Amino acid sequence: MNALPKCWAVIPAAGIGERVGSNIPKQYLKIAGKTILEHSLAPFVNTSRIAGITIALHPQDAHFTSLDISRSTCDKIHTVTGGATRAHSVLNALESFEAQIREDDFILVHDAARPCLTERDLDQLIDVCLAHEVGGIIGSCVTDTLKHVENNNIVNTVDRENIWRAYTPQMFKFGMLQRAIQTALKDGVCITDEASALEYMGYQPCMVEGDVRNIKVTTATDVSLAEIFLQQEMKS
Ligand code: C5P
Repeated sequence: MNALPKCWAVIPAAGIGERVGSNIPKQYLKIAGKTILEHSLAPFVNTSRIAGITIALHPQDAHFTSLDISRSTCDKIHTVTGGATRAHSVLNALESFEAQIREDDFILVHDAARPCLTERDLDQLIDVCLAHEVGGIIGSCVTDTLKHVENNNIVNTVDRENIWRAYTPQMFKFGMLQRAIQTALKDGVCITDEASALEYMGYQPCMVEGDVRNIKVTTATDVSLAEIFLQQEMKS
């Protein structure tokens, strides 16, 4: 009998995060007692549902080895060198799994800059995607009115019905995801998340509604917000 598929995590952490305006990459800023990267990793480290984690680091990363997790005896975490874009970093991480992974094992890709993912949302995504033929992502529906703006002038209002924000984690079968990213990159398609690569191949991933506090830290304001959200979660 075939073994059940396993779940593995990929954490792209090779960006430099210029928009935060700090002199260190945003994933290494400390909030609520730990670096943003350590918060982002925590739900994956803490669950037995994830068999292993590969983190893609910048070629000149000078911070990871100073973290406790890099010295921990937990053999669940491995690192690879990231690439020129997020998609290249994810692809490098996928290649590092090749010897130990099966085509139909699942990969969950989660941004290093999303420190507020809850274990509840991670569990829910895994439950839904294990039963879905393509896989899916965490997101939330848009609540603001949307404007198409050019040169600071409003051209028109965009219909927001059926429009969702895409978060991470994004969970897909290893073989399907690797082929989709390789094809999209070869064809010069701009992919800013894994689902776009699957969509390019003609698949329809599912959307799982998650907590709106699962923000991607991009600006200095996001750093403060993420800290507040993490403190709220620690108290609850
Ligand atoms: O730049 P942005 O915030 O969209 O990056 C999303 C995630 O992708 C971050 O965790 C960042 O570290 C990662 N990334 C990467 N390799 C790159 C660019 C971004 O791993 N070349």
